[in-house]
Amino acid sequence: MAEHEHVRVAVIGSGFGGLGAAVRLRREGVTDFVVLERASAVGGTWRDNSYPGCACDVPSHLYSFSFAPNPDWPRTFSGQERIHEYLEHVADTFRLRPHIRFDSEVKQARWDNDKLWWEIETTGTASGTLTADVVVSATGPLSDPKVPDIKGLDGFGGKVFHSARWDHDYDLRGKRVAMIGTGASAIQIVPAIQKEVGKLTLFQRTPPWVMPRADRAITKAERWLHRQLPFTTQARRGLLWGIRELQVQAFTKRPDELGMVERLAKRNMYRAIKDPALRAKLTPDYRIGCKRILLSNAYYPALAQPNVDVVASGLSEIRGNTLVAADGTEAEVDAIVFGTGFHVTDMPIADRVIGAEGVSLAQSWKGGMAALRGATAAGFPNFMTIIGPNTGLGNSSMILMIESQLNYMADYLRQLNVLGGRVALTPRQGAVNGWNNRVQDRMKRTVWNTGGCDSWYLDENGRNTTVWPGTTTEFRQATRHVDVGEYEVVRPPAQAAPGTSRRKKKAGVSAA
Ligand code: NAP
Repeated sequence: MAEHEHVRVAVIGSGFGGLGAAVRLRREGVTDFVVLERASAVGGTWRDNSYPGCACDVPSHLYSFSFAPNPDWPRTFSGQERIHEYLEHVADTFRLRPHIRFDSEVKQARWDNDKLWWEIETTGTASGTLTADVVVSATGPLSDPKVPDIKGLDGFGGKVFHSARWDHDYDLRGKRVAMIGTGASAIQIVPAIQKEVGKLTLFQRTPPWVMPRADRAITKAERWLHRQLPFTTQARRGLLWGIRELQVQAFTKRPDELGMVERLAKRNMYRAIKDPALRAKLTPDYRIGCKRILLSNAYYPALAQPNVDVVASGLSEIRGNTLVAADGTEAEVDAIVFGTGFHVTDMPIADRVIGAEGVSLAQSWKGGMAALRGATAAGFPNFMTIIGPNTGLGNSSMILMIESQLNYMADYLRQLNVLGGRVALTPRQGAVNGWNNRVQDRMKRTVWNTGGCDSWYLDENGRNTTVWPGTTTEFRQATRHVDVGEYEVVRPPAQAAPGTSRRKKKAGVSAA
């Protein structure tokens, strides 16, 4: 291999996970790291999702880093622009920019069994090859938009875009627009564009449960208080966290208790929707919480407007400019907005990461994503995922989970230092299986598995490989330290004990 750059850690992505990892690395005294970012700005999903109405449905004081509190959040649920600004601010405040390689997309990361490092090829303006002892993949589950394979889509003569790739140059005013999907993105887009479009046709495959959103401006006095007395920001955060922590049991152990919440959601709908036929279309037939509970005060009122049609059936075909639903309903439109989500359980980065056995992470996860403590995968030494399998939350802030994973990452690096020399840790298959069996066992009683819905939490085999079936406190405890007993220590082949197996010969595996 030609001369190349080598770093201790390569982080992929500069969203919340990647920036958090970078801050943590610096705090741990690791300065020899890069953040590889395919775009030309930080922010991840909060950079890419700039659709009208985009905001976070987790309160801002909880949806921010504990180590970077923001006393100036303008609203209880701040919009995308302010969240993106916050992440830019984190990159500046913690002096992360010198570490970030923009326009640098990871084409492949391949583990080298001899050298015990990752060889990473990047494309884009900063294309090239570098090697890293450790790779931290922080691409997140919501980074690659999913557009369903609809017959006739190629022949559609109008404008098409995904919610996460909004075309701000396209003027929607007066147009006949089809919104496909009724997830968290779509329910924010619908009220934001309804007034300006000529006609809005919503293709709803499954009605969501929508609760009111207690959004309000944070007053000047509150902001002043948070600036003068920083502990008040922490107290506010603590309260928001505590309430959500208490709710978890209903999701994970006693889904029947959520019936009460369904009544509140129905009341939210009935307040705005008076037409019984439309109410019937919009009423879900599964337990609330099975899919993400959506928050909006504006969604139902928008659907009640005369320029909106709800087609209670999925889009199945396009003929010219006519969209055809599975139930045969037709609508002629000028533009299609796909609010159809992301490649979550089949994330493209998994195809690009090739482990010790020469197989990709995607191949290794064919039967379902699985990682030890949501972070490390068997056969992939010195590789960890931020927001990996079974780390998602149904009711609280993902930033809490990210920070737990950063604790784990920091301890992982400490363990490598303690072992010393050229060394890697690779999780034992038994440890990965044990962890996942325990997770799946707990999953059986949860609303995500018993609530009677089909959601993106489930993979193609119907297995829930995305959500954490417990409290954020439990996950924090489970990731506080790396249990080295769950890992094999890999040393270069020259140091391998004689008589080891084929893989062991290649990679000098020994007990930790
Ligand atoms: P999503 O939740 O995966 O929703 C995709 C939607 O597309 C679903 O309603 C799905 O219907 C529908 N769909 C797929 N194919 C269809 C077809 N052929 N015809 C009609 N509908 C079709 O995607 P998302 O709304 O982008 O949200 C993804 C995640 O992003 C959220 O769950 C959340 O975690 C995050 N998010 C968060 C916020 C926030 O405020 N924090 C905002 C936006 C997004 P089915 O329900 O029938 O599958």
